[in-house]
Amino acid sequence: MDFIDLKSQYAALRDNINARIQKVLDHGQYILGPEVREMEEALAAYTGAKHCISVASGTEALLICLMALELRPGDEVITSPFTFAATAEMIVLAGGVPVFVDIEPGTANLDATLIEAAITAKTRAIMPVSLYGQVADMDAINAIAARHGLAVIEDAAQSFGATYYGAPAPPSAAAAPRGGSPALGRPGGERGRKSCNLSTFGCTSFFPSKPLGCYGDGGAIFTSDDALAQACREIRTHGQSQRYLHTRVGVGGRMDTLQCAVVLGKLERFEWEVSRRLALGEAYGAKLKAAVPGLQLLQVKADRDCVWAQYTVFVDDREAVQARLKAAGIPTAVHYPRPLHHQPAYARYAAADACPHSLAAAARVLSLPMSADLTEAQQDQVVAALAAALG
Ligand SMILES: *Cc1c(COP(=O)(O)O)cnc(C)c1O
Repeated sequence: MDFIDLKSQYAALRDNINARIQKVLDHGQYILGPEVREMEEALAAYTGAKHCISVASGTEALLICLMALELRPGDEVITSPFTFAATAEMIVLAGGVPVFVDIEPGTANLDATLIEAAITAKTRAIMPVSLYGQVADMDAINAIAARHGLAVIEDAAQSFGATYYGAPAPPSAAAAPRGGSPALGRPGGERGRKSCNLSTFGCTSFFPSKPLGCYGDGGAIFTSDDALAQACREIRTHGQSQRYLHTRVGVGGRMDTLQCAVVLGKLERFEWEVSRRLALGEAYGAKLKAAVPGLQLLQVKADRDCVWAQYTVFVDDREAVQARLKAAGIPTAVHYPRPLHHQPAYARYAAADACPHSLAAAARVLSLPMSADLTEAQQDQVVAALAAALG
């Protein structure tokens, strides 16, 4: 069993992806070719954001947004320490200071109720991470940001395709008839908003194992702010506002035309993949509850879904459990074993005993095999093996 089954996905999409790659080889516009714009337009339409700017990776997306905000040295960006290193890494690289705020123990996402106490005169932005494919309390975070004049950057590397409904509409509005496409609506007509279109910026990654992946590195920035979108486009290509006119300092941060062609090919069944991920996540929850009573599952809040970039549970004695699963032929992974304030490069930004929920999660999280092509039989095998490993 593969931890993430990309082979079945390719088998299903082979003709489309191969044809799109061949088309790029034939027209030869490897940099900023027509597929780049086509993908950006398709993804902007999917998320509902006004602009999509494709970039070289999810990491580059974070960097370019922070550069567009023109951080001054010492400016602070509030984020979670329970994330992949790139989140804090790009804050530092952009000249900022990461300020770590703890997670909620249930969702492992940034705890919005702790943010306001961390805001200082130097705070410029809040960077919540949509960990495992579930967005944080974005309505609350956006409200705090609005009160303090801050930007919000969603690190949506793991959550492309996820939906957020947010606070329920007031009764009067709820009573009014509402339309909405079935793809975006819940039964009853309640409309959701997509991850990447929830704040000043949304940044995603097309690293192969993410919910929407390419066959190498790629990423995208989403925003509905025209000026910030223009800044990101310029920064992506060495700060050029026109050819050989370098208006600002930028980077070489473009996404290859070939990788955009791969993403376009994958969009053919992306909506199916998202619904399959949601169904597999629910099935994992139900099966694990029955087979492993007392197992702590990730909490998915009622007003949002989770696209399960990782299907992650919490266990004690993790290494022994992983070894038993490995012996049973079940691959697992840990996202992530150390919070960033316990990494040598970022330890200076918080006390060692800060963010206790992040420390506890890092010691206990375990990710199980997950992808849209995981079969029911494979899932049953994983659940049985985990029950045996814990029993
Ligand atoms: C994968 C990931 C990134 C980085 O994306 P790349 O495309 O690999 O650069 C950033 N943040 C989070 C939370 C991620 O999971």
